[in-house]
Amino acid sequence: MNIPHVLSQVIRRSPSLSQILDATVEIVARDMGTDVCSIYLLDPADHRLRLAATKGLHREALGKVTLALGEGITGIVVAEMRSIAVEDASSHPGYRYFPETGEEQFQSYLGVPMAIRNRPVGAIVIQTRDRRKFNQDEIETLNTIAAQLVGVVENARLIHAIDQPDQGKHYLKELRTWNKGLVARPKGAEGELVLKGAPASGGIALGRAVYRGVYDIGLEPPADATQDPVREKRRMGIAIEKARGDILRIQEAAEKETDEEHALIFSSHLMLLNDPTLLDRLERACDQFLPAPYAVAQVFAEIESQISRISDVYIQERVEDIRDLRNRLLAGLLERDHPAQSLANSIVVAHGLPPSLVVELKVQGALAMVTERGGTTSHGALLARAMGIPAVTGVEGLGESVRTGDEMIVDGNSGKVVVRPTARTLAGYMKRADFQTATRSRLAALRQEPARSLCGQTLPLLANVGMASEVHQAVLYGAEGIGLYRTEFPFMIREDFPTREEQVRIYERAARAFPKGPIYFRILDLGGDKYHPRVSRTDESNPVLGYRSIRLMLDNPRLLKEQVKAFLQVARGLKSGILVPMVSSMTELRKTRTLIEEAAKELGSESGGRLPAIGAMIEVPAAVEIASDLAREVDFFSIGSNDLIQFTLAADRENARVSPFGDAYHPAVLRMLRRVITAGHAAGIPVSCCGEISSTPELAVLLMAMGIDSLSLIPSSIPTVKEAIRRSDVRRLREKLDEILALSEAKEIREAIARELPAIKEPEPVE
Ligand code: PEP
Ligand code: MG
Repeated sequence: MNIPHVLSQVIRRSPSLSQILDATVEIVARDMGTDVCSIYLLDPADHRLRLAATKGLHREALGKVTLALGEGITGIVVAEMRSIAVEDASSHPGYRYFPETGEEQFQSYLGVPMAIRNRPVGAIVIQTRDRRKFNQDEIETLNTIAAQLVGVVENARLIHAIDQPDQGKHYLKELRTWNKGLVARPKGAEGELVLKGAPASGGIALGRAVYRGVYDIGLEPPADATQDPVREKRRMGIAIEKARGDILRIQEAAEKETDEEHALIFSSHLMLLNDPTLLDRLERACDQFLPAPYAVAQVFAEIESQISRISDVYIQERVEDIRDLRNRLLAGLLERDHPAQSLANSIVVAHGLPPSLVVELKVQGALAMVTERGGTTSHGALLARAMGIPAVTGVEGLGESVRTGDEMIVDGNSGKVVVRPTARTLAGYMKRADFQTATRSRLAALRQEPARSLCGQTLPLLANVGMASEVHQAVLYGAEGIGLYRTEFPFMIREDFPTREEQVRIYERAARAFPKGPIYFRILDLGGDKYHPRVSRTDESNPVLGYRSIRLMLDNPRLLKEQVKAFLQVARGLKSGILVPMVSSMTELRKTRTLIEEAAKELGSESGGRLPAIGAMIEVPAAVEIASDLAREVDFFSIGSNDLIQFTLAADRENARVSPFGDAYHPAVLRMLRRVITAGHAAGIPVSCCGEISSTPELAVLLMAMGIDSLSLIPSSIPTVKEAIRRSDVRRLREKLDEILALSEAKEIREAIARELPAIKEPEPVE
């Protein structure tokens, strides 16, 4: 049986921590054939390991047996954060025996640590009565289980933090600040208003505003205390049940709409809703004659204030979940007085962008969303993109400017939001929206056509994907394969790492869509803006230049090899390759190659008996400089222009203020691109480009003129780029290339290319 898979089912059902731990020890002991399985958790209060669950030891010892770090073999496992396997535990120098547990009868021992961000959380231990040698597979399985449990334990810590006794009352402060603008409905806010935010998910939508996630209408502390506690508690119970039902429904919808890996997003919501202390606090607030909505607002305001005092990034990150839950409860309670408006055909205005809200919008048929907070790489933004919902985030002053029912235009391509547009603006946008629709149907006709230029040159157009829904889009838009499979998403969406089997299941969807390939899987590119609680560092002042990507993976060889094995299992029989991200030296490349080869060897016949093609991503200026050296030891190059531009021009790609400096037309960038292509071809290897420049029609054609062998781009941009190539005379542009690249200003280069490609795009209507 696949234990990690079974466990994730247990976790998904999200009962309490103790139920999950009890189920875990039962499942592990049964399926690994051991007499004992125990879990010890580190108590942050006294820094001792406490026996939290066991199958096989005396249950009376639960919660009682404690160890200092470094005490006993388990104490050593945790203190030194390493797995220990011994055939005869009593002969181990660290052996210490606890009579309360009855463990003297057990001989063999395997313990693995549980840790998050290098902080010890506890250990999971198996023991057998007979002498037994634990093999590498068993050690790895237990490590995977430990990694899975860490996320659950951390959720429980969040609840523990919530369950601390009250530390001062904070009455609805944050809640009111945000709601003031919405409830007060600013009278002066008439007429057209243009707001600017971050373009989080592309597309244009026109519709009427509906607020979501904000329900504090008139929620001032009540003047009198004449409520009926019994009635209020009943109301509360109904609202809790409704919230639970809603979340379960969203979870199911998330699974259907996206991938099963998204469903775990909601595990902390469910755990919170099952927390007896939270439920008790809500009841007690009702007993104090507070009406149920005020009880919710008060208890959650206290919780947020408690959490704000904890300096743990993980816990801080969960605040969004807590707010989401509070708003759901308030929505349930206030629905009668303020019936929830349907989201169908509306533009949803919200404070933040929790993933649950995105899924809900999709399910209810909303047109677009605009939020006051949030960037373009949050989980919510990623989901919005995956689901094709236009979204603009980080719009300052949104709450003060929009009233329910206001007409709005959301331009997810540019990040522009127009509130109460004039008839003239509306007509302009309508024209653009019509133009978009017409263009879409014209381009749809090109689906089966090749990207062949006027001069007869053909370029393979592949897709960049990161999740299953993008794989569907890749097929829909006529991609010829997957040129960049970004594998981070399933790793980022949850605290534990997906197991190899889970990864195989996820990657298999891509293989089913492109059964002959090609599919180029990228090794995990974590770190930088793709923070992961288990491996990323929180103490870096400049994470983009920090501990990330292949640097981080080379320090986690097991993780890297497991991922490579998953790629190889899926890629049998189809054309595929492995992309190594952020390579900056030959040493890194060689070390990575060695690990890939070891993984293939360990997998044996399952890998199809061949080594995968290995490609270096060229996205650091150093890699451009040593491109000829790298080219001798890889099978292909793929240019990651997003990072290459950010590092070459020292312009943070996530910082909107410096985005004009990250200009792809800068001669430094374009000359580098040409050098990489030339170096690759001199060594006889193909060169592709998978950065966003491949989605810009003019630059895609320019890359073609430079001799690029294929492009990988956002699926929805494939038709536009294909059409641009079909309208271009690439040979003519190639003849002018030296002249164009000799120009010293981006502006001149842009103009020169536009002159050479007069018919590349249909002119867009002016607003
Ligand atoms: C790039 O840097 O251009 C790239 C394709 O990788 P990512 O955008 O995922 O960093
Ligand atoms: Mg990159």
